[in-house]
Amino acid sequence: MNQVWKKLSQSEIKERVFGALEENVNFFNEAIVGVPASHLDSKVFFSDASFLKDAPFLSSLIHNPNHIGCHTLGHSESFFSGTQAIEREVIEICAHDILKGEGEFDGYVASGGTEANMQACWIYRNYFKQEHGAKNEEIVILCSADSHYSMAKAANVLGIGIQKASIDENTRLVSHDTVSQAIREAQNKGAKYFIVVSNMMTTMFGSVDPINAYTDELDKAGVAYKVHIDGAYGGFFFPFSCPDIQNDFRNPKVNSVTLDAHKMVQAPYGTGIFLIRKGYMQYANTSEASYVEGEDSTLIGSRSGANAIAIWMILMTYGPHGWWEKIQVLLMRTNWLEKQLNEKGVKFYRNPWSNIITIRAEHVPHELAHDYVLVPDNHQDPSWYKIVVMEHVTIERLIPVVAGITA
Ligand SMILES: *Cc1c(COP(=O)(O)O)cnc(C)c1O
Repeated sequence: MNQVWKKLSQSEIKERVFGALEENVNFFNEAIVGVPASHLDSKVFFSDASFLKDAPFLSSLIHNPNHIGCHTLGHSESFFSGTQAIEREVIEICAHDILKGEGEFDGYVASGGTEANMQACWIYRNYFKQEHGAKNEEIVILCSADSHYSMAKAANVLGIGIQKASIDENTRLVSHDTVSQAIREAQNKGAKYFIVVSNMMTTMFGSVDPINAYTDELDKAGVAYKVHIDGAYGGFFFPFSCPDIQNDFRNPKVNSVTLDAHKMVQAPYGTGIFLIRKGYMQYANTSEASYVEGEDSTLIGSRSGANAIAIWMILMTYGPHGWWEKIQVLLMRTNWLEKQLNEKGVKFYRNPWSNIITIRAEHVPHELAHDYVLVPDNHQDPSWYKIVVMEHVTIERLIPVVAGITA
């Protein structure tokens, strides 16, 4: 498979984005009278400001392409074919170059990790219903006690069950035993079909579920299941930090993945990415979406094409090697922080391939947490506070935090 992801110069990026906008319909100078869509309000957002010719992202916002629908499948709304091609490239880079998938994938830029996780559960719920004649009450989301709350939302909205496997308080990981116990518990409540959502870095701890614990135990139980990876936090981090990754698309049991570009990638909000192997997106198709060319297999409906362009611009500015280096810097800073905490004798959790350090609340004075905005696991009754080593979290900024943490 040819690598699509490569570093581009600023002028190459500009040329590609403006070229794509050119291929879209242009509400400024074409007679387009049949759609409830236009450029941004020009009384408020000036379209002729001179700096815009050097600002491909801002220009995309002003042109305001609508990327409604899924553009890796069949045909799509022809008005915005230029920028949809950029979105397809983002999907290809994420599925092939980052998550090492072979073959073909579908996907789209969702509003965030919540939507992408829900899209996965929606597809698999419909898959089990259509292919296995499952009833809603026989379908259950199986995830870890540290999973993101979007799984609870998905279960609630989709009218299916949720069963959490318990985790070890120190390793924050599920085990074969706790997964097997969770499967039995779910079966006792009538579950026959399992939607696994396995974490590639949890929000609070940066922990990564041992995916084999799920797949081994479900195989042993002989039940039907599908595996989705929640990489909303870790999808642009873990593949670059961990030398021995088990949960990307090289694992044939991984069927779909969520990535968020608005966390580690620093893209604007509204940039969750949903990726799935070919042949499944159709289970979420709404054929009633008949006014949309190519219909709609996404949860969201109308969405900004500028979001896909933002992700593409960031990935192409760094290129794969530049991105790897960026992640290494964050890892090294986190190593520095870990060493300081060890020297102080502070109790904390860290996955060695992550940039999150989660500290036992007993070491964190209230005022320190408040002043430096350390996020608790629970605002009412915190047991843990986390430090997330993002780009702006330099060692200089960490020094006073370390000084305030008590042994
Ligand atoms: C942030 C996060 C989500 C939800 O993502 P949003 O983009 O906020 O909707 C889901 N899962 C994990 C692990 C996350 O860290």
